Amino acid sequence: MGRGFFNVPKAVNEPVKEYAPGSPERAEVLATYKEMFHSNMDVPMHINGEEVRTGNTKNITPPHDHQHVVGHYHTANKSHVDAAISTALAAREAWSNVSWTERATIFLKAAELLAGPYRARMNAATMIAQSKNVYQAEIDAACEMIDFFRFNVQYMTDIFKDQPASAPGIWNRVEYRPLEGFVYAISPFNFTSIAANLPAAAALMGNVVVWKPSDHQAYSAQVIVEMFKEAGLPDGVINVIYGDPVMISDTVLDSPDFSGLHFTGSTHVFKNLWKQIGNNIHTYKTYPRIVGETGGKDFIWAHNSSNPLQVATAITRGAFEYQGQKCSAASRAYIPASMWEDVKGHLITQANDIKMGSPEDPSNFVNAVIHEASFDKIAHFIDAAKADKDADVIIGGGHDKSVGYFIEPTVIVAKSPTYATMTTELFGPVMTIFVYEDAEWEASLKLVDESTEFALTGAIFSTDRYIVEKASKALENAAGNFYINDKPTGAVVGQQPFGGGRASGTNDKAGSAQNLLRWTSVRLIKETLVSPTDYKYAFLGA
Ligand code: NAD
Repeated sequence: MGRGFFNVPKAVNEPVKEYAPGSPERAEVLATYKEMFHSNMDVPMHINGEEVRTGNTKNITPPHDHQHVVGHYHTANKSHVDAAISTALAAREAWSNVSWTERATIFLKAAELLAGPYRARMNAATMIAQSKNVYQAEIDAACEMIDFFRFNVQYMTDIFKDQPASAPGIWNRVEYRPLEGFVYAISPFNFTSIAANLPAAAALMGNVVVWKPSDHQAYSAQVIVEMFKEAGLPDGVINVIYGDPVMISDTVLDSPDFSGLHFTGSTHVFKNLWKQIGNNIHTYKTYPRIVGETGGKDFIWAHNSSNPLQVATAITRGAFEYQGQKCSAASRAYIPASMWEDVKGHLITQANDIKMGSPEDPSNFVNAVIHEASFDKIAHFIDAAKADKDADVIIGGGHDKSVGYFIEPTVIVAKSPTYATMTTELFGPVMTIFVYEDAEWEASLKLVDESTEFALTGAIFSTDRYIVEKASKALENAAGNFYINDKPTGAVVGQQPFGGGRASGTNDKAGSAQNLLRWTSVRLIKETLVSPTDYKYAFLGA
C-alpha cells in the first residue's frame, strides 16, 4: 500500500527490570517458574503453521536438575525437512509481496507482547532449560529480544530510505527485495534472543525461513513460536524443525532454493557448513548469503595504570556471568606483575562471595552449565590444570554433576601465554590469567593479538590515554567488539552492534542495518521519463 511515507515508532531500549526482593516482577517470574517446572511441555515442530508431532521425542531437563523432566520435543525425519522447505517456498510469494508495514507491525507487536504478557514465561523458560539466573534471563530473553525487534524495524526503514540520486528526466530507485529462495536459520543454546532474531531478521526483510533451534533451547523456542503466532506471523513464514543437525543440514543445503544461512554457534560447525555450501554451489539458483557469528576466546588486558578493583570486577562479571557461556565471556586475561597481588586479592574476595545453584533461588549468581558434554569438557581442562606444573588453579576448581552440571567459578594462572586454557574456547566459568612483566606491555599486546584464531570481544584497562591509543591500535583486528575500561560482555542492541572477525564470524553485526542488508537483494530501477528518439549523440555532429 503506497499511501504515505510512514515513520516507524522510534526504537528505544527496553528498560531492564530489577527483580529486587519484594518486586512484583520477581514474584511473577518465580511463580511462573514454579508452575512451568512442575508441568510437562510438549514441544511440537511447526510446519506451515501446523504443530507437527512425530512421537520421536527427546526429553527436556534443566541443566541444574538433570533428572527432572520439564518437557519433550519432537524430532524430524527427512520428510519433515522437505515439508518445511516446500512450505516456506509456498509462503514466499504472499510474504515477500506484503507491505513492509505489515511485516513491521508483526514484529513490533511481538516486542510489545514480550514486554508485557510473555515476559515472565519467556524468562522462566530460559531460566529453567538454559539455567540462567533471573537477571541474565531478563537481559537476554526479554530485553535483548525486544530490542532486536524494535531496532530492526527501524533499521529496515533506514535501509529503504537509502536511495540513489536521480538526474534530470530520470528517476532512479532501488528496492530491497528478499532473497530468491529461503533462508536457513541455525541457532545456539545460549541466547534466547539470538534464537529468535536469526529467523526474525530474515523474515522481517520479507524472507521465508526454515529454523533449526538448538536442542538445548527448544523449551524457550516454543514460547517464541507461540508469541510470533499471537503477533500475527502468517503460517509457513518461519518453519521450525528439531532433530539430527547433520541430516537436517544435509537436506536443507541440497535444495536448489537455499539462498542464505543465518548461523550462530561454534566455529567448527560453521566452517563445515560453509564448506558444504561451497561443495554444493553448482546446485543453487543464487549465490547463498552466509552469515555466521561463532566462537571466541575473549580477553581482558590490563596496563599498570589501571585500577585493580575495576579489573578484578570486570573479570568476575565478564568471566562468570551465565557460567562463562556467553560468546563474549572473558576467558583469558593479561595482568602486569606489579598489579597482580591486588587483582588476585579482589578476585578471591569476589569469588568467595558468589553463590552457585538453581536459578529458582535468585541469590545464586552462578547456575549450571548447559549439558553433560560441556560439563565433562570443562572439568577435564580444570583437572588437567590442577595436575599441570605449568598452571595453578588459584580459585575454584570444583565440579559436581550429581544433580546439575555445576562448575565452580575457576581462575587458573598459566605460566605460559599459550597454555591450553589460554587459547581454547571452553565455554564455561573458567578464567585463565597470564601475568606479564610490566615493562613487557607492548609484547603482551602481541600475545593477545596472536595467541588464538578468534577475534570476537576484548577489553583493555588503562587510565593513560597514550597507552589506550597504542593498545587500541595494536589490537585493531583482535576483536569485533572492543571495550575500553569495561568488561567485554553485555552488548546492547542499538548501542553496541555485535560480532567478531577472524574465526569468530563474518562480523555482520547482529542488531544492525548491516545484518539486515544481507537478507536483501537490491533491484535497481532506472526510469527515463521521456525516452529519446534519436540514436545519434551530439559528438557525432550534424
Ligand atoms: P553449537 O555449534 O554446538 O550449536 C549451534 C547450532 O548448530 C545448534 O542448533 C546445533 O544443533 C547446530 N549444529 C551442531 N552441529 C551441527 C552440524 N554438524 N551441522 C549443522 N548444525 C549443527 O553451539 P552451541 O553450543 O549451541 O553454542 C555455543 C557456541 O556458539 C560457542 O562457540 C559460542 O562462542 C558461539 N556463539 C557465538 C555467538 C556470536 O555472536 N559470535 C553468540 C552465541 C554463541
